Amino acid sequence: MKLPPLAELQYVSHPFEVHLKSDFGGVKTRPGLVFRGPAGYGEFAPFKHHSPEHAALWLQAAIEMAYDPVLPLKRLEIPINGIVPMMPLEDIPQYVKTVSAQGVTSFKVKCGSEDFADDFARVMAVRESAQLSSIRIDVNGKWDVMQAKERIFELNAFATLEYVEQPVATIQEMTQLRNLVDVPLAIDENIRLSTGISSRDLQMAADIAILKAIPSGGVRKALEIAEEIDMPIVVSGSMDTSVGLTAGLLLAANVEDLYGACGLGTGNLLETDIANTVLPERGVIQVQNAKINPMLLERSAWKMEQAEKDFWDNYLVTCYEILEQM
Ligand SMILES: [Mg+2]
Repeated sequence: MKLPPLAELQYVSHPFEVHLKSDFGGVKTRPGLVFRGPAGYGEFAPFKHHSPEHAALWLQAAIEMAYDPVLPLKRLEIPINGIVPMMPLEDIPQYVKTVSAQGVTSFKVKCGSEDFADDFARVMAVRESAQLSSIRIDVNGKWDVMQAKERIFELNAFATLEYVEQPVATIQEMTQLRNLVDVPLAIDENIRLSTGISSRDLQMAADIAILKAIPSGGVRKALEIAEEIDMPIVVSGSMDTSVGLTAGLLLAANVEDLYGACGLGTGNLLETDIANTVLPERGVIQVQNAKINPMLLERSAWKMEQAEKDFWDNYLVTCYEILEQM
């Protein structure tokens, strides 16, 4: 894709900062920039722990959204799973009730707490609150192989697990674990083909692949990855605002082999937003264009520190320069 001039991007960019209802992997706010391009809005909000090279892919995705989005070709409604972050146990019943009322029957529970008893209690609380749900867990690679084997067995005895996402960190550990457990495994963090992991390695290591539009560099690039790895796909978001979420919806709308409910229900975790929040209804979200609510956008930037706004202006330049070289 041809890049628009940097000066143009700077001109059409607007800072924002949305707040989350609860801590999500150590993050409580999501700051970034939105671009108002000729074809719509694009969101650029890489996590700050990412390298600039990785963040440049997020910029590429934002440019695609604002200048040249793909069309939804295979489906217009995306089935959604609920996401349960490491929230206080006592908040889970009300949260699950709210999400179940949106027709959602599949839940993904974040695991990998310091104390496994906390993970266990969280999964059981979800299971009790949402009787009909299938339960997926996401460990973000925090267990070792033997821990994973025992813990998956234990959790599965009480709450049938649909699959376990990235229980261990490396592709070798995933492959090893896969021979030790009956529950399907999904890879997320391991999908970095550029680091020399082949499609065959991925297929040996897991049953399902989690794919994200924005961290992959946009919907087109993610679709190329999907084709290359040739596995059933679950599309997830990257804790986006309701603008960024639409990129995930477009990816899910075009993936050939969609496994099932997608992790695009994170609108439920947003305390504030820059668009009217995209939430599931009857268990699905309609594929849609990103729409800004100008009042919410202004309000979100209103309390941002000047230093934070400057950071994003500078980071845009840094990432743009990396993209030019790619
Ligand atoms: Mg994950």
